[in-house]
Amino acid sequence: MTAILPWQKTLWRAMMQNGHIRGHAVLLKGRSGIGKFSFARFLAKSLLCKNPAADYRACGDCVSCNWFEQQAHPDFVAISPEAMLSDPINAVQSDSEDASPNENKLKKKPGQQISISQIRELDDFVYLSGHQSGYKTVLIYPAEAMNSAASNALLKKLEEPPAQVLFILVSHQPQLLLPTIRSRCQQIAMPVPDTDAAMAWLRQSIATNDVGKLRALLALSGYAPLATLALEESHETHRKFIDGIRKADQFDPLAVAEVLHNLDLVMTVEWLQKWCYDLLSYHVSGVIRFHPDDAPHIQALCQRTEPQSVLAYLRFLNTRQALARHPLQAKLFLEELFIRYAGLFTPALSGLTRGVV
Ligand SMILES: [Zn+2]
Repeated sequence: MTAILPWQKTLWRAMMQNGHIRGHAVLLKGRSGIGKFSFARFLAKSLLCKNPAADYRACGDCVSCNWFEQQAHPDFVAISPEAMLSDPINAVQSDSEDASPNENKLKKKPGQQISISQIRELDDFVYLSGHQSGYKTVLIYPAEAMNSAASNALLKKLEEPPAQVLFILVSHQPQLLLPTIRSRCQQIAMPVPDTDAAMAWLRQSIATNDVGKLRALLALSGYAPLATLALEESHETHRKFIDGIRKADQFDPLAVAEVLHNLDLVMTVEWLQKWCYDLLSYHVSGVIRFHPDDAPHIQALCQRTEPQSVLAYLRFLNTRQALARHPLQAKLFLEELFIRYAGLFTPALSGLTRGVV
């Protein structure tokens, strides 16, 4: 997607008052699924365009715009972790990487980091003259995926900025960037659409007349419309999942594990995290964020659970998030999750998990 989203138009006008960007680096920051990556690409494409519109948007027709869309523009480089390079657009729509804000991104395994060699390979690009003798742009996404060596290499470039080069850093978790990198960027908090704007966009993007379903998906995504698009595909499966876990009296952990063990485990852990987040949130503040349509069940479960137990279970889920990528046995893994979940409202069950790894 290389278009500006409706909730980004005001920002676009403010940023592009003179048709150029102040400084040599911008940091687009905000939570996952609100369109930061598509905005970054749109910005780069527009700065490179040979025939931009009056408001400096890319024309979409010139040779430069065509090169850009074919990922062949000589004055544009995008840097992402190698594991993400094959499909960065779907990667931006997936929220699973961003579900736990406490996760230290800098400890990610190789392939999921941006390495120093990827930053060093920029040298020729940024220090030699531009092919089109205009802007050259470098997009780094997500910027927090840079390991420390890569961060320091980028910092050197930001300290001695090459002429006519714009670095566009996109970050879901800017607090993980070096403060010295953040301070050298023009920091832009990316806008989040309100519910009405998000729903209007979703109704144009998803072919359905089921407004209730769209609202439920939007809530489940944490009100991040681009993440909602990705959720739509798994909507039916998610409903079955919630049906399986929402009634304490009918919950059978082994049966649910049997039914679900072929699903993506990372996704399953994330669904369980969101469900338990709502349990805890209702306990503490009476607010249900992700599953408003299931309020009666969440209220009923809260009558049977203690907030401290739910919090402990959420912490346990955080520890299982990384393991979910490489479980020894999917079914055993799920059985442990669900037996412990059952232990929230049937405390006698919580002892059964000893010995299950
Ligand atoms: Zn153009």
